[in-house]
Amino acid sequence: MPPDIERLKESNNFLNLLLENITSAVFIVDSKIRIRKFNDSFKVLFHKKEDQILGELCGNAINCVFSVEEHKDCGMTTHCGKCILRKSLVKTFVKKVPTFRKKLVRDFYIKEKKIIKFFQFTTKYVTYNGEEMSVIILDDITELETKNIELKHEINEKNELLGILAHDIRNPIQILTLYADYFLEDKSLPDDLHSFFETLMDNCSYISTLLNNTLDYTKLDSSALHISRETCDYSDIMAHIITNQSIIAAKKNIKLDFKTTLPRDFTISVDVNKIRQVIINLISNGIKYSYPDTTITVTVNLCEDCLETSVIDQGQGIPENDLPYVFFQYYKASAKPTGNEKSTGLGLAITKKIIEGHKGEIMVESKEGEGSVFTFLLPLDGKS
Ligand code: ADP
Repeated sequence: MPPDIERLKESNNFLNLLLENITSAVFIVDSKIRIRKFNDSFKVLFHKKEDQILGELCGNAINCVFSVEEHKDCGMTTHCGKCILRKSLVKTFVKKVPTFRKKLVRDFYIKEKKIIKFFQFTTKYVTYNGEEMSVIILDDITELETKNIELKHEINEKNELLGILAHDIRNPIQILTLYADYFLEDKSLPDDLHSFFETLMDNCSYISTLLNNTLDYTKLDSSALHISRETCDYSDIMAHIITNQSIIAAKKNIKLDFKTTLPRDFTISVDVNKIRQVIINLISNGIKYSYPDTTITVTVNLCEDCLETSVIDQGQGIPENDLPYVFFQYYKASAKPTGNEKSTGLGLAITKKIIEGHKGEIMVESKEGEGSVFTFLLPLDGKS
């Protein structure tokens, strides 16, 4: 055999070896969506023999539920117009662009049993000898997805329980607070008892904050965070919050500055109460973790496709090691409140959930000892 042919044969064998050892199912279809080549993992995944795959229409070869149950070829069933795999392949052939990591969830008949499968696939346009084809790489993620669904279900159940617990503990705590308050009003109370009731009151107030934040968080976590949008004047909302928060900041001798470049009458469609909660959370954190005689600056700017709000403080800052975790629930970083305020480690987790519920983004930059900048972006899609 001439050396060139020998070398070609060798590299062909090598490529086949590679294809056969890939754990993903890899197959190639022509523009009629007929299978022209496939690897061993494909056969294993769908429990099919070579002659049941080669030259077959894709849906027929993989025993798609619609082809089997309607006794029709792939492409001819009543569901084919909505098939995500078919749509991706058509896009790949027409636009010659790949599609990445799409999810296909469907029943398949595997060994004559109807089984639900979760697949993740990627399609890529190729030409070979002038013929247009598409390579499909498909992974079975059924186990992972099933575990994910179970986990989400478990988390929801636990959150529900946590919510009920937090709700039910709130009442007795309110009664304890009332009693403590009643005794604190009594001017004849001896000093040691007064300080006893003060400690009781302080602890009750801490538990109340914790319970309220837990209730907030579990409500937000019940998978479908409901965002009720309404058109609002963002500057108005900000101005109102700044006025109120300035009073709280002034008690610690902290100045609150507000800088905006928003055009007059700018409106945006957001869940007003939830966004208000976000802004208040960030400003009150600024106040909570800053020392007297510092300034907190709040800026609002309009970007190309989003509204950017930043809260910049000159407080204790957050150590680099803590930064990735500050948005996790119940995570407290090394900065401690400077004015005896309460800290539950839930505020930023709630804030992040709300911003993500608006399809926005929140980030933090900080340097220990210098201060922090919390910035959130709201997409302008909701803009009226
Ligand atoms: P909380 O303030 O109730 O503890 P958060 O979720 O709002 O809960 O914040 C988590 C942690 O991040 C806080 O415990 C604090 O250590 C740190 N942190 C948040 N905001 C700031 C800030 N502006 N400056 C310094 N540290 C902060």
